[in-house]
Amino acid sequence: MHLRNPYTQNPPDFRALAESYVKLAKFLQDDATIDFTDAEAICALTEALLHKDFDIDIELLPDRLCPRVANRLNYILWMQDLLDSDSYGVNTINHSTPIWGLDIGTGTSCIYPLLGCRLRRNWNFIATDIDDLAVSTAATVVSRNKLTDRIFVVKTAPVDSLFTHYPCGESHMNEYFHFTMCNPPFYSSAADYNASQTLKVTPAHSFTAAAPEEMITPGGEVAFVKRMINESIERFRNDANTGNTWYTSMLGKLDSLKVVVSKLRKHGIFNYAIAEFIQGQFTRRWAVAWRFGARRLLPEIARPVEPVLSAAVRGLLPPATGCVLSSGHAEGTKDNHLLDKVLSTLKNDFGEFIHLEKLPQPNADKYYITGYSREGNVWSRKFRRNKRRKIEDVDHVERSRMHETIGFGFRIFVDYSVKTEICKCIIHWSYGSDPIVFESFCGMLKDRIQPLVSS
Ligand code: SAH
Repeated sequence: MHLRNPYTQNPPDFRALAESYVKLAKFLQDDATIDFTDAEAICALTEALLHKDFDIDIELLPDRLCPRVANRLNYILWMQDLLDSDSYGVNTINHSTPIWGLDIGTGTSCIYPLLGCRLRRNWNFIATDIDDLAVSTAATVVSRNKLTDRIFVVKTAPVDSLFTHYPCGESHMNEYFHFTMCNPPFYSSAADYNASQTLKVTPAHSFTAAAPEEMITPGGEVAFVKRMINESIERFRNDANTGNTWYTSMLGKLDSLKVVVSKLRKHGIFNYAIAEFIQGQFTRRWAVAWRFGARRLLPEIARPVEPVLSAAVRGLLPPATGCVLSSGHAEGTKDNHLLDKVLSTLKNDFGEFIHLEKLPQPNADKYYITGYSREGNVWSRKFRRNKRRKIEDVDHVERSRMHETIGFGFRIFVDYSVKTEICKCIIHWSYGSDPIVFESFCGMLKDRIQPLVSS
């Protein structure tokens, strides 16, 4: 489960829920639980949770996919993490700028837009589906929850490109989605679905009612997400402003995650993230996200330490965006003293090429250094050699294109423990496309910081 998921620590109290949502009462059994093989009981439980914990008023259809709240919440919280990663230092999170998301295949419940809007008041959605019943039911629940000014349900066709529905309609075509999400049909055929059920070691502990269009798509989830990758590449080629959009999808099988990550890497897309959501003893889901721009994720989101990922998933993680540089006894380096020393060393050596600033850390009584070099690897021998040769300036367009690809941004934090008198230097890679440049930056810093720590 996601660490901020409230159901991790507090599983729902069914008896209390049934008191606040009478429809659930008739399904409550003597031991204060429900029959998880009864679709109507599962729907009533889901409605009760959405009503009590998210103020969402919804009537689910027992023969359609019933969204498991804890699972859908995991994905939404992770989506928040990806977006918030970009806001570091801007007083953490700015909740007033409108954020636009696209939910591909919103289903009859419209669950992601509803949860997303209830949790963040600046989020808005375009919600698409190819299924008539999904579109009409989703539109009804949006209006029942008075969200028609923030969630727009759009009917699409299977042949339509997945991302062409602009935020706020065609009149706002210069706006871009901040993120797209999707819970695609997992299976390629009824036989594929049946095979997955027989493969399960334990019998399904919970019944999943669904219509074929909710479970099955040609080629299964892998083909669906591969199509998303291809279309996203095409969009970026045609419009570089789409570079900051996070494209994301849920996946029902670990094998699919492996194929998708390998396709991303094959296309040279290393700015991606993955997540594993574990619910109860039986259900695992995975999610994948990618983008084309050079803004990097916070280290703990790119390579999470908690929750602990299974070994197979760890091998699929993106390159690190963080590095703990040196630790050592640092007498006289309390507070921001070492940070200042690092700053003056960097200014002295690279002030001409790296824009450096000392800024307050959000919500902390401390500072950090932020740096940006337009020309990337300015500490390398090659750069200095080229500088000496005074290479003629390339024209303006070429230069700005190069900056997008070779610019390099970072943050440096100093963490001093009074108790142990140990000092750590933590480097975040905030901007750039080449993990090797980040590695080389950390190497260069290590050489410069070591003498400062021991001095
Ligand atoms: N998001 C919901 C429903 C997921 S079921 C949830 O998480 O509970 C998958 C949905 O994708 C179905 O409603 C199906 O109709 C829709 N779908 C399948 N192919 C699609 C496509 N090409 N474009 C948009 N929606 C699609």
